[in-house]
Amino acid sequence: MQRQLIWFRQDLRIHDHTALWHAALSGQVIALIILSPEQWKIHDDAPIKIDFYLRQIQQLKNSLRTLNIPLLIRTVPLWKDVTTEIVQLCQDFKIENVHANIECGVNELNRDFQVQKALNQHSLDLILYHDRTVFPVGSIRNKSNLPYQVFGAFKKYCYEQLSISVPQTYPTPEPQQYFEINISDMIPTLQQLGFEFENINRQWHVGEAHALEILDDFIENKLFDYQTERDFPHNEGTSQLAAYLNIGIISIRQCLNALFRVQHGHFHIEHIGQQTWLDELLWREFYQHILFDFPRVSKHLPFKQTTQNIQWRNAPEDFEAWQTGQTGIPIIDAAMRQLLQTGWMHNRARMIVAMFLTKNLLIDWRLGEQWFMQHLIDGDLAANNGGWQWCASTGTDSVPYFRIFNPVSQSQKFDAQGDYIRQWVPELAHLDAKTIHEPYGKNPNIQLNYPKAIVDLKQSRVRAIEAFKQI
Ligand code: FAD
Repeated sequence: MQRQLIWFRQDLRIHDHTALWHAALSGQVIALIILSPEQWKIHDDAPIKIDFYLRQIQQLKNSLRTLNIPLLIRTVPLWKDVTTEIVQLCQDFKIENVHANIECGVNELNRDFQVQKALNQHSLDLILYHDRTVFPVGSIRNKSNLPYQVFGAFKKYCYEQLSISVPQTYPTPEPQQYFEINISDMIPTLQQLGFEFENINRQWHVGEAHALEILDDFIENKLFDYQTERDFPHNEGTSQLAAYLNIGIISIRQCLNALFRVQHGHFHIEHIGQQTWLDELLWREFYQHILFDFPRVSKHLPFKQTTQNIQWRNAPEDFEAWQTGQTGIPIIDAAMRQLLQTGWMHNRARMIVAMFLTKNLLIDWRLGEQWFMQHLIDGDLAANNGGWQWCASTGTDSVPYFRIFNPVSQSQKFDAQGDYIRQWVPELAHLDAKTIHEPYGKNPNIQLNYPKAIVDLKQSRVRAIEAFKQI
C-alpha cells in the first residue's frame, strides 16, 4: 500500500474526521500540520485563538500516537509558501496522495488549488472532502438552481434534507501498524511564531474528550431550556462550543448526532429548545455556504452591494471608547470588557455592541468585524462576517436599517438585575438594578468613576436612519 498524507487544518481531531477516515482506508498514513503565522496575522486571527490551536495540536499529536500515525509540523510564513513545502514532503516521505477537508474561504480555496496544481505536475493528488458543514458547500440550491440568500428558505431546505437522513459520524480508524520514521517536530510557542501578548487567558481547555463532555453536558442539562435561557448574557445558557467547532476539535455531525440522540439519530424535534439549537447550528451552516457562494463577503465587501455607499463616520475616539469598554453605556462596556478579558462574548451582547457601533456610532462594520477577529477565541470569518453584516443591515437577510436596538432597553430586558454589568464593570457594582443600566440618566449629579455616555441614543438613531435613507 502507498503512503498517504493527511493534512490537518481547521479540523484538529481524530474522531469523525472525513479526510482521516478516507486516508486510512487508502494506505499507511502520515499526518501534517503547516503553521503560517504571517498568514494568520493578515487574517487578524486572535493570539488567544492561535494559542488554543497550538495547545490542541499537542492533544492531536497524542491522539494520533494511539493510532501509530506520526505528525509532521512545519512552519512557513504564508500560504503561498505551502505548495513547495508539501511537494517536498511528498517526495521525502514517498507520499502517493494528500487528503484534507475543504475550507471555504477564498484564500483557503486558492491555496488548495495551487497545491493541487503542483501535486498534479508530480502525478500526485490532493483529495478534498466535505467535513466542516452538514451539507457540502455549493450543493444547496433553490428551484432556480441558485444559492439561497435568505436564512428562512435555506433552513427549510435543510430541514427537508435532514428529515431524509441526519448525516452520520465517521468511525475512528483502527491503529495502523507501527513503522519507524524519523520525526522529532516540536510545536512552537506563540512567541516563537512572533506573536506579542500578555497574560493569555487559558480558561478554555483543549482536547476532544473535553469538547465532547461540554456537548454532553449541554444536551443533558441545558438544551431543554435553551430557547428561554440563551439570550441572557449573565446565564450560562448556551453551549460555548463555537471555539471547538471552529478549529474542529468537535465536528458538526457530532453535534447533530448528540441533538438527536434521544431519537436514535432520527430527525424528530420534540421541544423548542432542541429546535432553537438546531437553528443556531444552521445559522453557522448558512454563513459557511454564503462565504462559499458569495466570495465578495470575504473581500471586505457588503453582501448588499448598495450599502457600499453608506457614509460611515470617521470617529477614532468613539471607536476607541467602544473597543476598550469606555462608552458610558454599561451593557456595551460590560460586553466589550468581557471580550478583552476572556476572548469570548455572549451572542446577545455581540448583537448589541455591533448594532451600537454601526448604528449609534455610525462606524463602519468592517472595523468592528476586524476587532472581533483580533480578540475572539471562536473568531470565524463566515460567522463573524455574517453576524456583523446582519447587525449593520448590509448582509443577507439582515435586520432592517430602521430597527435599531436601544442598548439600554436591551440591557433592562436581558440583564434585568444588572448582574452581567456588575461582573464586568465593577465601578458600577454598587448601583441598584434600576440605576445600573443608565447610571446618569435619572440622576445627572451622581458621582461615579465612570464615563458619561459618548453619544445620545435618540439623536444617533435618527442620524443612522438618515444615513441609510441616503442610499
Ligand atoms: P450556541 O448558542 O450554543 O450555538 C451553538 C453553535 O451554533 C455555536 O457554537 C456556533 O457554532 C453556532 N452559532 C450560534 N449562533 C450563530 C450565529 N448567529 N451565526 C453563526 N453561527 C452561530 N460565531 C462564531 O463562531 N465565530 C465568530 O467569529 C462569530 N462572530 C459573531 C459576530 C457577531 C457580530 C455576531 C452577532 C455573532 C457572531 N457569532 C460568531 C455567532 C454567535 O455569537 C456565536 O457563535 C455564539 O455566541 C457562540 O456561543 P456558543 O458556542 O455558546 O453558541
